[in-house]
Amino acid sequence: MTVKCCVCTKIRIDDQWLLTETKANELVSHSYCPACLDAALAELSAYGQPTSSTSTTQHYHQTARV
Ligand SMILES: [Zn+2]
Repeated sequence: MTVKCCVCTKIRIDDQWLLTETKANELVSHSYCPACLDAALAELSAYGQPTSSTSTTQHYHQTARV
């Protein structure tokens, strides 16, 4: 299973994150690379209190489960 960062679209290969193309028929699991995970977590903590706009938080929970 290919793991692809949903932010910068890098692919994880042997624990390295490289900017490369996936094959058309390849199964891709979307996640965060370490750099984008840090950014996402920082963004989440900035949204510390629930607001009317929760789409970012929901999107994070969906992708983090994979
Ligand atoms: Zn990334």
